[in-house]
Amino acid sequence: MASLLTLDEAQARVLEHARPLPSELVPIAEAGGRVTAEDVRANVDLPPFASSAMDGFAVRVSDLPGVLRIVGESAAGKPYDARVEPGGAVAISTGAVVPEDVDAVVPVEAVVKKENTVEISHTADAGAHIRPRGGDVAAGDVVVPVGARLTPARLAAAAASGVAEVSCRRRPRVAVLATGSELIAPGEALRPGQIYETNTLMLATALVVEGVEVVTEPPAPDDEGSLREALERGLAADVLVTSGGVSVGEHDLVRSVERGLGVQEVFWRVSVKPGKPVSFGTRGDTLVFGLPGNPVSTLVGCELFVKPALRSLQGLPRPLPRFEPGRLGVGLRRNEERDEFVRARTCVDGDALVLEPILGQESHMIVRSGAADALVHVPRGNGELAAGSTVQWLRLGDA
Ligand code: AMP
Ligand code: MG
Repeated sequence: MASLLTLDEAQARVLEHARPLPSELVPIAEAGGRVTAEDVRANVDLPPFASSAMDGFAVRVSDLPGVLRIVGESAAGKPYDARVEPGGAVAISTGAVVPEDVDAVVPVEAVVKKENTVEISHTADAGAHIRPRGGDVAAGDVVVPVGARLTPARLAAAAASGVAEVSCRRRPRVAVLATGSELIAPGEALRPGQIYETNTLMLATALVVEGVEVVTEPPAPDDEGSLREALERGLAADVLVTSGGVSVGEHDLVRSVERGLGVQEVFWRVSVKPGKPVSFGTRGDTLVFGLPGNPVSTLVGCELFVKPALRSLQGLPRPLPRFEPGRLGVGLRRNEERDEFVRARTCVDGDALVLEPILGQESHMIVRSGAADALVHVPRGNGELAAGSTVQWLRLGDA
């Protein structure tokens, strides 16, 4: 096993080949979930004018406490240019222009209003309840840095700053192809030897949330002609992800057919469990992943290899999976040769996040894995990781 690549080495090789895709200008209404290819800068100061943070009265601090004459109203969305003489107050709403001559807003709850006057029986600090012009950001400042996923708040930041188009990385196109002569679609009756196909659906669903465009191919049987045709179609994408047919069996033809189509293999087999026979190669700019077909191997391989590549293609600066520390609920024996990824459920015990491995860790047991919300990394080595040890885990979604 000494010849197997380690997980770190394999991930590094994937990332070496997954350079950010070209950029394009995207209207902001379509840019949600995309990744910025340049810093996004504010077109205007924000707020663009001194505005009120409260509904109330805009006053001169030097007039307080006192009874002030209401000389006008400043409402949101309207200019307010009139002068405010000493002893005057302007009724003002949240977000409205603060007149030039005043220096505080007194909330409506803190005044006694009569006809044309307002009585304020306390003092106020200069600037109270006024949002200064440029208090959030100044024109020209960076509002979203390069290499950031446009989350709802970041999109809003760009929009608030008057930005209508954002330079984003092109979305990777990902072709997904399951291989195996035994695979049929749910809804059809199983004939002897057949099983229902899971991996296309699982991969497509996992990848769509990574901000990519997924193209699914119908499953291909294990014969060279069918595989060649399906793989050739898939190679037109930026990334081709196959499942099945990369192990050492007679019918595992994916790698050899890919070789015939000009795919240059970068690695085959990595010291991880599940998913050891994973392959990775390139043809031109296309990245080619061969995930082993057992559904749990496909799931784990997608997290460890495919998703990091997709994040890197989109220009995200930290593409590798984000593992977090947690506490192991039970002892686990370590595998001497391979880093193991154990499916687990998270639970909270006081301040600690505890990981309880699910029963049934074999790589075909996708139904068992469906109950898990965490993937626990058990580094290769001797002996046991004791219950209570700190381990690194990756969220698999809500379970
Ligand atoms: P393979 O990697 O082709 O040797 O497949 C390993 C195991 O996973 C076999 O038991 C296959 O039947 C099963 N398998 C392969 N592809 C799929 C798939 N798309 N859906 C469900 N099971 C699969
Ligand atoms: Mg197969």
